[in-house]
Amino acid sequence: MTSLDCQKKKHLLVAASVGLLILMPARPTHATTITVENWDTFDEGFNDPTPRGPEGGNPGTTLGQLRLNAFQEAADRWAAVVSSCVAIVAQGNFDPLYCAPSSAILGSAGPKIAHANFPNAPVANTWFAAATANSIAGLDLYADAGDIGAKFNSSIDLGCFLGAPNGWYYGFDGNPGAGQIDFIPTLLHELAHGLGFLTFVDLASGARLGGWNDTYMLNLEDHTTGVLYPAMTTGERVAASINTGNLHWVGPKVKAASSLLSTGKTGDHVHMYAPNPQEPGSSVSHFDTTLTPDELMEPFATPTTIQDLTEALLQDIGWSLAPLGPGPTANMCLAGKSKCASKKMAGLLKCHNKAEKSGLAVDPECLSKAIAKFDGGTKGVAGSCFGKLEIKYPGVPPAGCVTTGDLDTIETKVDAFVDDVVGELDPSYPTPILNVCSAGKKKCTLKKAAGKLKCHEKCQKDPAKCECVLEACLSKAEDKYDGGTVPVKGCFAKLEAKGGCITTGDSDALETKVDAFIDDLLSELNPAP
Ligand SMILES: [Zn+2]
Ligand SMILES: [Zn+2]
Repeated sequence: MTSLDCQKKKHLLVAASVGLLILMPARPTHATTITVENWDTFDEGFNDPTPRGPEGGNPGTTLGQLRLNAFQEAADRWAAVVSSCVAIVAQGNFDPLYCAPSSAILGSAGPKIAHANFPNAPVANTWFAAATANSIAGLDLYADAGDIGAKFNSSIDLGCFLGAPNGWYYGFDGNPGAGQIDFIPTLLHELAHGLGFLTFVDLASGARLGGWNDTYMLNLEDHTTGVLYPAMTTGERVAASINTGNLHWVGPKVKAASSLLSTGKTGDHVHMYAPNPQEPGSSVSHFDTTLTPDELMEPFATPTTIQDLTEALLQDIGWSLAPLGPGPTANMCLAGKSKCASKKMAGLLKCHNKAEKSGLAVDPECLSKAIAKFDGGTKGVAGSCFGKLEIKYPGVPPAGCVTTGDLDTIETKVDAFVDDVVGELDPSYPTPILNVCSAGKKKCTLKKAAGKLKCHEKCQKDPAKCECVLEACLSKAEDKYDGGTVPVKGCFAKLEAKGGCITTGDSDALETKVDAFIDDLLSELNPAP
């Protein structure tokens, strides 16, 4: 039998706050990156220079390359499953671990750090594995460390384990030769521990890490008593951990997926590994060996890569899964048209800003310059901002423009927005006035609109990246305008503090106008995203 061990490393953090137990909220899903870090020294493990040919789709030509390629392959497979805007760093190395003719440890892994009470945490005073916590927070909570630490047994390749005298198989195709053991399922298994598939409860004592719950134990039940881990005494947790067949997972996603099992469940409660006596590194933090079909996260290696229940469990502990199918595609014409509209809007408002600062009437030449840049002026539609794009990007999307012939429609929308802003901030327009505050507010407004449109433009050019940066980009533009958490630093507030404003307290009203304008513009330019 081959055992898979799990190690836990901890990082106790954080100020306490009190909250209610709530369900994990749905979050937007994102493309994920898992970067692997090679922690071996120069000539061993992932760097072993021993020549060895490519196998099963793995192109490596040395033992070390084959190993590292497989590590990245497994990381990529998980990256396609879980959703996080924060890149996950998985650190790994090969070491000689326990290896005997009858049994061996294949590897061990766990989160490098646990976090609690981070931004957006769905439950208070509850530990989450670093990668899970980062994905929920939407930011790297502790960038100085990796998220996952993993070790793999280099001794397997020496043939010490008679279950696999020919060592590891490093191919990607699940097709190991005789006497070999498949490395990819081992990697997938260990990475899942690193993603949070484990409890931080001390197995021997039943004590919680730092006296707090972890997100995994929230779903553990002793079916004999019906009590969940958080409500148990330490002694009751120890008793549950050896209550073979009665230690259950009761999270909603696993319960819903339990219909896939023919054995290893009681009703829709799925059995967790609870041998008596305890097996450190295996007990509690795995599915039971009785599951049929076999699941990836059983404590003893089976050749399976089935991970339906594993994915369900990851959702129960706080993960969102990545969207299936292709994401949105880039459209350079769309990005260009947003920019055209933004430039015209900004150009017109700049003319108004200039006039009001000097107390003169709005310069018609300034206006007609901004207009001509947009609609082509005497050059006509072909020389217009949209016309040039439609010529440059012919055909249908994704290469061609999403819309065509919409120059006038958009022009009308931009003009209406500018008129609305001007009328709101300077009710006496078109009578010229000298008012620095009103002039400044026009600039605030155009900057916010242009800033937000620029965020969308980035997304239209590179949608894969955009999923993760759009929200932050938009809120940055918003904070600049309204001051974020410090309202007195808002663009309007600073002007009003100086005095002499024609209007006051209208920051929110203008903000609403900007947002409505942008929504309208984008839905016109990209009707069915
Ligand atoms: Zn394991
Ligand atoms: Zn149960």
